[in-house]
Amino acid sequence: MRSKVRRVPEERHLHIALVGNPNSGKTTLFNILTGLRQKVGNYPGVTVERKEGRLRLGDGVVATLLDLPGTYSLYPGSPDEQIATEILLGHASHTPAPDIVICVVDASHLERNLYFVTQIIDRHLPLIIALNMMDVAEQSGIIIDVRSLAHELDAPVVPTVASRGEGIDQLKAAVLTTRTASVRARGWHLPDTVERETEELVGILREAHSLTAPQAFHEAVGLLTAESQDIDHSTRYHREVLAHVKRDHEKLDFLGFDRRSVFVESRYGWIREICTRTVTHRHAAAGWSDRIDRVLTHRRWGVVIFLALMAVIFQAMFSWSIPPMEWIGNMFDRLGDVVAASMPPGDMRDLIVKGAIGGVAAVVTFLPQILALFFFLGLLEDTGYMARAAFIMDRIMNRVGLHGKSFIPLMSSFACAIPGIMATRTIENPRDRLATMLVAPLMSCSARLPVYALMIAAFIPSTRVFGFLSLPALTMTSMYLLGLVMALLVAWIFKKTLLKGSAPAFIIELPPYRVPGVKSIFLLMWERAWAFLKRAGTIILAASIVLWFLASYPKVDGGDAADQLHRSFVGQAGQLIEPVIRPLGFDWKIGVGLVSSLIQREVFVSTMGTIYSIEHGIAGEEATLAERLRSERDAATGLRSYTPLTGICIMVYYVLAMQCFSTIAVMRRETNGWKWPLVQIGYMTGLAYVVTFIVFRTGLALGYGG
Ligand code: GDP
Ligand code: MG
Repeated sequence: MRSKVRRVPEERHLHIALVGNPNSGKTTLFNILTGLRQKVGNYPGVTVERKEGRLRLGDGVVATLLDLPGTYSLYPGSPDEQIATEILLGHASHTPAPDIVICVVDASHLERNLYFVTQIIDRHLPLIIALNMMDVAEQSGIIIDVRSLAHELDAPVVPTVASRGEGIDQLKAAVLTTRTASVRARGWHLPDTVERETEELVGILREAHSLTAPQAFHEAVGLLTAESQDIDHSTRYHREVLAHVKRDHEKLDFLGFDRRSVFVESRYGWIREICTRTVTHRHAAAGWSDRIDRVLTHRRWGVVIFLALMAVIFQAMFSWSIPPMEWIGNMFDRLGDVVAASMPPGDMRDLIVKGAIGGVAAVVTFLPQILALFFFLGLLEDTGYMARAAFIMDRIMNRVGLHGKSFIPLMSSFACAIPGIMATRTIENPRDRLATMLVAPLMSCSARLPVYALMIAAFIPSTRVFGFLSLPALTMTSMYLLGLVMALLVAWIFKKTLLKGSAPAFIIELPPYRVPGVKSIFLLMWERAWAFLKRAGTIILAASIVLWFLASYPKVDGGDAADQLHRSFVGQAGQLIEPVIRPLGFDWKIGVGLVSSLIQREVFVSTMGTIYSIEHGIAGEEATLAERLRSERDAATGLRSYTPLTGICIMVYYVLAMQCFSTIAVMRRETNGWKWPLVQIGYMTGLAYVVTFIVFRTGLALGYGG
């Protein structure tokens, strides 16, 4: 017992939780409200940061303020969301349920942010809305009627600009006057059948688990939108509840409801109503953009337009790129001639002309097509079409257990799997993210383009199909589609097996359409061209020189060029692996290409360039690499070594095989270990082998082998 008399504190203590979508300004607001009175740590057992602070509100009220992790929904996807939801719902043992919830809402993205707000309202949590980023909203011509918004939501709404400290006093005042939870009736409605089933389930849940009505409604929504197989494994609910849920699932599925999107859409229906009543846009320019969107994001026409657009792009890539490709080819030929004429014959001349120039030329020729690819990707991104593509692909992605968010990383992988894999960081659910990373390298990256282009130039006649599509462009499109389809298929398998779990609902902001920035697109192309040329000048140059040595030694006396190649180191190595690749229709020369392209896929082309310039003498000889491949004959039988079927098999193999050290390194870094990169190498190599084998055998059986 202390002898000192202490004044009994008259203070009331409040626990306040600060919640909201990521980047809505929670932390900024938290810092202003608490100043230096902060404690930063981790939540027990996880690496989610916990930020707590104290603030004095006046009237003898002090508060503990908790800055919760950014959250889109009370049905959590990521570990961050899990923690935030547990605390909000009072399920966390380490943190008391909040007395007041301040939801920070980004006024410039009102609809998306209100989605989370309506979930808090449905749970009847004591809510104050900090309508933040008012300055940004104003700049973009969004005018929000704050009072009628508060009326619609039946919760106090305080406009703030957290970064300038505006609205803070009003927010504090609102905390002091808000005591009770909102008890308004749910403002949004489900389709009748769904509504009935939901209410019935709410009744059963209340009874079986003695829940309040809002608690039971929350659980009911969670159960009805869950995957049916997850229900089987649930231990949280009474058996009768689960049995009822199973029946509901069957019924709703049978009636053709997409259970998850019914709830999302109904909620958004209400949000849109609220927004039409409370928000005005000063620039009424949205009209035509909406009209375009109605077509481009149409569930059927959207997909058709997307595919048509892709086909047009590949068509254009082909027809436009041919002349510059020929110029570059001629330039290197001339360079080879000049060098050859100015040097005495011998190994040094061969090294430079056949090794270095031959190898680098074979790859650099494809620069125009790479530039065209990046031009179109940049155009799609810059006009705002890419987000629409993600939106229409969401439906398809859902079928394979992913959602639209995975589509952008996959599209970026058309350029290169590395930025694609990095872009998966925006996917909250770790299993979805992993599934996306695992399949990203199946998308045809720009390094495959030279391989496809060489094979097509050599083996695919440039006739027309359906009157307007050229067969080469169609073949190229097929290869890209093969990669895409395989990526979806494999993702589906992963999501059914190793990475089981449901995909969360997809929320996307469609950015406004813009006239593309010519400058930014050309900057992108320039960057890519430079990176490509740098690779050609370093890795590919080095690989070509090493390969020239390995293909020219040990020296064979008396034999011709073909004989020399056959007995060289490269020849021996190729023949060593030939039995493994024979079933795919590949000979030892292609084998050398396959092995050397483990460094980087386009090395295949330079390898072929080097091998064939060694075998066929000096570069000046008037035959392109494609022509040489086409006319190559087997020494023993005199038959053509390669047929169009071989060309297709090589392309199919390159679509599916994992041949990129850099991607493996990035996978290791992003997944923190060797397990997943090894899984990736394993399944891709296996898939490439099996599918190529099937294509080859089928082709032979159909008589395309000769
Ligand atoms: P959190 O993810 O919700 O914690 O968001 P932050 O507090 O980290 O804020 C994200 C970014 O928005 C930061 O760069 C802030 O400076 C900025 N920001 C926050 N509030 C406002 C605001 O009211 N107006 C503007 N223009 N920027 C803001
Ligand atoms: Mg923050």
